[in-house]
Amino acid sequence: MLERARLLDAGDPLARFRERFDVPEGVIYLDGNSLGCLPMETPKRLEQVVREEWGRDLIRSWNSAGWIDLPAKVGGKIAPLIGAQPHEVVVADSVSVNLFKLISAALAMRPGRKVVLSEPGNFPTDIYMIEGLEKQGLAQRRLASRDGLVDALDGDVALLLLTHAHYKTGEIFDMARLTGAAHEAGALVLWDLSHSGGALPVDLNACGADFAVGCGYKYLNGGPGAPAYAFVAERHLHDTQQPLSGWMGHAQPFAFSDDYRPAPGIERLLCGTPGILGVSALEVGVDLIAEIGVERLYAKSQKLSEFFRQCLAESDIELDLVSPTDPAQRGSQLSFRHPEAYAICQALIARGVIGDFRDPDILRFGFAPAYLRFEDMAEAARHLVEVLESSEWQREEFRTRAAVT
Ligand SMILES: *Cc1c(COP(=O)(O)O)cnc(C)c1O
Repeated sequence: MLERARLLDAGDPLARFRERFDVPEGVIYLDGNSLGCLPMETPKRLEQVVREEWGRDLIRSWNSAGWIDLPAKVGGKIAPLIGAQPHEVVVADSVSVNLFKLISAALAMRPGRKVVLSEPGNFPTDIYMIEGLEKQGLAQRRLASRDGLVDALDGDVALLLLTHAHYKTGEIFDMARLTGAAHEAGALVLWDLSHSGGALPVDLNACGADFAVGCGYKYLNGGPGAPAYAFVAERHLHDTQQPLSGWMGHAQPFAFSDDYRPAPGIERLLCGTPGILGVSALEVGVDLIAEIGVERLYAKSQKLSEFFRQCLAESDIELDLVSPTDPAQRGSQLSFRHPEAYAICQALIARGVIGDFRDPDILRFGFAPAYLRFEDMAEAARHLVEVLESSEWQREEFRTRAAVT
């Protein structure tokens, strides 16, 4: 398989982008869906922002280096990756905080309706944020399984909140169909693009989406805790009233008025002062992903994951795939179920193959195609087979749970 892998790498039009990332020697990194790799350019950019913009120019940089416009500028660069217009996207806060803002805004736009509909097993923070609003008496949480979502869309539903590509299984929702169904029921839709943005083509406006949020530190390679982004469809910009009415979302923050007046555009999603170091690092990651192109990335990711499956299929081990077998139905990942998933994952990490474990029994491998090679697939599959066949994972040291998995 290694030979075939090398042939595939030799013909891979994206192979040259690997050197634009600082991929550590001896590591096969299958966790770019949790924390993307460091772009080579990022330390240089941060050095410049810290030493020159902050160190020398100090407060003048809000104007001279364009810090004040950076959240909207970087949002505008994310927009084409998700099928949005530049003035519909802004970078701010975390996904969780942006969920709070947009769920609240959607509820306010549907007076008389309180239900926020989602699916059980959605990413926890999405469900927790609904719960937080429920405790304030503003929302009512309703969870329905994938098959039952459309039936659960009754006249009480204000908002349908779904994650486009599921974080555990990689299953993709039909965005156009569900958005249409929600609208027919008079509800709005908020898509969480954390596992889609920068990984697979998304067309928010073609699907008629109302709102979206997404993550900066996964496929956009913005660094640990990178700021997230939020999308509001142009037709809703004027009516979107979010409750975190901080001064940076004001129409004129530097008028220092006693009364809040939201900015006319997407800047109304801002709350406090943006973390310029974080937004600057994110910009480098976004530029790089935009340069490579999401269509090409997704095409390669499908080939990588299919090749990984072929490598496993040629071994004697059997693993229970929980991701869709059709690559067009899944995001940029493959997940397998195994009762010893945690220990297997640890044994692989000890061999330099970094995937991750998702409670209680999921072994998850992300295929960030910007910096992975087919050779990595062949090697990762070989290690996985060796770990399983040798029962190496049974060693005590691989069974102790760490705080962050
Ligand atoms: C990673 C992820 C998040 C992250 O939320 P933060 O508040 O930025 O930590 C949210 N939703 C989904 C679906 C995710 O995968």
